[in-house]
Amino acid sequence: MRNFIPIAEPLFEGNELKYLTDCISSGWISSVGKYVEKFEKEFAAYIGCKYGVALHTGTAALHLSLAALGIGKGDEVIIPTLTFAATANAVLYVRAKPVLVDVEQDTWNINPQLVENAITEKTKAIIPVHLYGHPCDMGSIAKIAQKHNIIIIEDAAEAHGAEYKDKKVGGVGTVGCFSFFGNKIITTGEGGICVCNDRHIAERLAKLRDHGMSKDKRYWHDEIGFNYRMTNLQAAVGVAQLERIDTFITRKREIAHQYNDYLSDVGGLVLPVEKDWAKNVFWMYSILLEKDYDSVSRDSLIIFLRKEGIETRPIFYPLHKMPPYRQNGSFPNAQYISASGLSLPSGVTLKEGQIKYVCEKIKKCLRSYI
Ligand SMILES: *Cc1c(COP(=O)(O)O)cnc(C)c1O
Repeated sequence: MRNFIPIAEPLFEGNELKYLTDCISSGWISSVGKYVEKFEKEFAAYIGCKYGVALHTGTAALHLSLAALGIGKGDEVIIPTLTFAATANAVLYVRAKPVLVDVEQDTWNINPQLVENAITEKTKAIIPVHLYGHPCDMGSIAKIAQKHNIIIIEDAAEAHGAEYKDKKVGGVGTVGCFSFFGNKIITTGEGGICVCNDRHIAERLAKLRDHGMSKDKRYWHDEIGFNYRMTNLQAAVGVAQLERIDTFITRKREIAHQYNDYLSDVGGLVLPVEKDWAKNVFWMYSILLEKDYDSVSRDSLIIFLRKEGIETRPIFYPLHKMPPYRQNGSFPNAQYISASGLSLPSGVTLKEGQIKYVCEKIKKCLRSYI
């Protein structure tokens, strides 16, 4: 399509090809190789953690964190109802129960007050999700977790480099989980990592990642593990992407500010927030259409923009509405955000002219509804 503007696009302008070529010409293409260790060390340091355990997806990072921390059958794990399904799936993989709570109206992140209300004697962990790049209120969540002796596993799959009060997210909880899927802030094609500060946990993660094999005795397994390793090829791309992460984040923030400028005078839109204690990395620039437009017009807007060559995405469906996670309760904020929100093109390759074009088309579409 002419002038097609995708929702996101990876950018490989650094050493990606050089490092990949190094893997191919040296023959180190599987999970042994210098880039895996380098990526683990450098990514963990970037977040401010001592240890990194690289994995083949972000979902594996969530699953392995729960498994390594001994969470299983009979345990409850509190998660927001507004997140990507992987957060809940990981809890179900270890046969624990995801307990869903509503999100805050402004940040779209898990509401700490509701977390506290949902705690029972079975609660073992909380998984705050830093949705679309805005950090959760980690201070309040940490206080609750400490009071009730509950583990925090951060789902930072969408928030590389985001900060809660000058501390990078993923480095606040017991374990932080990241994804390097193709549309994430940095990518390895598919990929993920767990970061933490506890050597014992890091060793457990590394063991479970590699079939549960003993570190000292080859082919000796005293528990069931997984093959969740990251390849040297993935890590080679990751090392190169990490060299450029600050440029990507700066560009994401610029894109958000440009959208804000072009959309600030449009009535009926809610633009993304950045709390004064937060650094939002705006993984996706996501907006809400206020009630006057009603939920039908969100879908009409998506169709209208698609015809103009602009790709957008609706916000995730709340988990409590879908068969595997169905739960009764009141989740008005998640429901409202899911029904009336959409993400606009947010890739680092976007030009200001394209942002202006997207905003003009949004205005044109909304005018026809008033
Ligand atoms: C992308 C994502 C994941 C899963 O990552 P994969 O690498 O695709 O497995 C988990 N949680 C959230 C919130 C995500 O956006």
